[in-house]
Amino acid sequence: MGVIEKLPLPRIIRVPANDLFSWARRNSLWPLTYGLACCAIEMMATGASRFDLDRFGASVFRATPRQADVMIVAGTVTKKMARRLRRLWEEMPDPKWVIAMGACAISGGGFYDSYYVVQGVDKIVPVDVYIPGCPPSPEALINGILTLQEKIRREPAFI
Ligand code: SF4
Repeated sequence: MGVIEKLPLPRIIRVPANDLFSWARRNSLWPLTYGLACCAIEMMATGASRFDLDRFGASVFRATPRQADVMIVAGTVTKKMARRLRRLWEEMPDPKWVIAMGACAISGGGFYDSYYVVQGVDKIVPVDVYIPGCPPSPEALINGILTLQEKIRREPAFI
């Protein structure tokens, strides 16, 4: 007789719907494939085998905004790109989240006060998590994803 057969497993498990939906959402994040500059190289490294984003359910990078729920803004946002970025964000279905990765995305970084760089992506779309650095390491991005998952856990699943 196996161990499983000896355990008194419940036939019905009752879970609040809010907890169930929240658990599913935070453990199945689908980032948009969207890199803007050198920070994107770190994002690609994070998605590769060494760091294994599958452990956190966040490795399914999608090539269309309609199948993504996380936009990782990895790099410098030029004013020319700003309207396209906003459009991609609008095409993502709700609920959706944004991670600003790197100094350029957060505040313009080394291009602070320049005439062609947006001085923070939060001027275009709402940002949930900021990851400082130039560039942030893959470990920092993973920490940002874990921070986002914790934020989703605290949000109500139904509004
Ligand atoms: S923060 Fe640094 S690494 Fe990232 S896009 Fe800007 S200059 Fe490149």
